[in-house]
Amino acid sequence: MTDVVIIGAGFIGMSFALAAHKQGFGVEVYDKAAAPVLPKTVTSQVIAVNPVSAEFLSGIGVWNLIPDRFVTRYDQMSVFDGQGSGSISFTAEEGGLPCLGYIVDQVALRVAMSECALSQGLEVKWTETADIDELQRDLLVAADGAHSATREKLGLKKMGYSYDQSATVCVAQFGQEFTAERGQQAYQWFCDSGPLALLPLADQGKFAVVWSSSEDMASISESAFISALEESTEDKLGRIHGVSSRHSFPLMQQHAWRYVTEGAVLLGDAAHAIHPLAGQGANLGFADASCLVTELCAARLEGRGIGDLGVLKRYEKKRKTDNHLAALAMEGFHRLFTSDSSIVGLVRSRGLRLVNENKTLKRLAISVASGRV
Ligand SMILES: Cc1cc2nc3c(=O)[nH]c(=O)nc-3n(C[C@H](O)[C@H](O)[C@H](O)COP(=O)(O)OP(=O)(O)OC[C@H]3O[C@@H](n4cnc5c(N)ncnc54)[C@H](O)[C@@H]3O)c2cc1C
Repeated sequence: MTDVVIIGAGFIGMSFALAAHKQGFGVEVYDKAAAPVLPKTVTSQVIAVNPVSAEFLSGIGVWNLIPDRFVTRYDQMSVFDGQGSGSISFTAEEGGLPCLGYIVDQVALRVAMSECALSQGLEVKWTETADIDELQRDLLVAADGAHSATREKLGLKKMGYSYDQSATVCVAQFGQEFTAERGQQAYQWFCDSGPLALLPLADQGKFAVVWSSSEDMASISESAFISALEESTEDKLGRIHGVSSRHSFPLMQQHAWRYVTEGAVLLGDAAHAIHPLAGQGANLGFADASCLVTELCAARLEGRGIGDLGVLKRYEKKRKTDNHLAALAMEGFHRLFTSDSSIVGLVRSRGLRLVNENKTLKRLAISVASGRV
């Protein structure tokens, strides 16, 4: 009998698997998809990894395995109220931090995790699903994403709703007038149609675009998309020379009522999925993985079983508060920036200016953005 069976080898299932394996737990991982393959260059599917998550990934031996060209450190962030005149800009230096975070190619991160597992003798059963009624284990971990079939099978209920928005992602090539320094800046506009993020990539002038919108930005013509992008970025980054193919992801807010039951636990998006406007979903999942391993180690020291409901509830209690707060904050931002009320618009623009001009509020915003709070 193995200690832990994990369903789902996404970022969160794999990071937990590696951390638990490192602590000496016997681990089995199943994923219904094929093993990831390293792309030639950075793709449009990236995530912003905060410094706390990067430290965690480093501690489990993954971070150094990601090739440099797939990781871009950023130390400046500018946020604009595209519907008004408010804006805020902050740097890592103002927050007393070495950087604000890293833009990482999702597939390259998954390949690094898979290589790390291989080098540590941790087998991942790719293209295999598991019958959870048949598997012998002390603990079952459902890390099979927002549409988790394992969560349903365990009878753990969720609440949530669709935003009636999709996030369209692609890579945009801006003009060569960029300096490397400017390329380390991330941008966000809160446009009429929804939040638009431009995340710097290692290649000169290239940005990953994440545009959450109720309009179908993936199927409009390329020239219409480029015009809309140039207009929304208010000419701050210059002309666009080309965009890659676009992909779209429907957006939702979802939260499981309970994360745990006797002998089983939910991790990452299986427990909570939030709007990507602040790039926090995976970062919350990494924090889940780190917290669960800590609780399992504590249980072992106390001589308790790792599937013991009391032990699992400690994990749930610690993570639910943070995850709920993040979900509430994303909801608040979403409502604040999608409201077309002129009073809300005024409050929004003044609020951004206030935070921009107040050192304490700014430091707090930087701490939240970099995962320190
Ligand atoms: C457009 C967009 C941008 C985002 N940007 C950011 C960002 O900048 N920063 C950030 O922190 N977060 C971001 N997120 C959120 C982040 O992508 C998710 O939080 C994260 O991918 C969740 O990881 P996971 O491992 O929990 O789930 P998933 O990534 O969904 O992985 C689930 C895994 O389970 C497997 N699986 C599913 N069903 C089964 C089964 N029955 N049996 C076996 N295996 C199964 C799947 O094949 C998959 O490998 C973004 C999300 C979107 C949509």
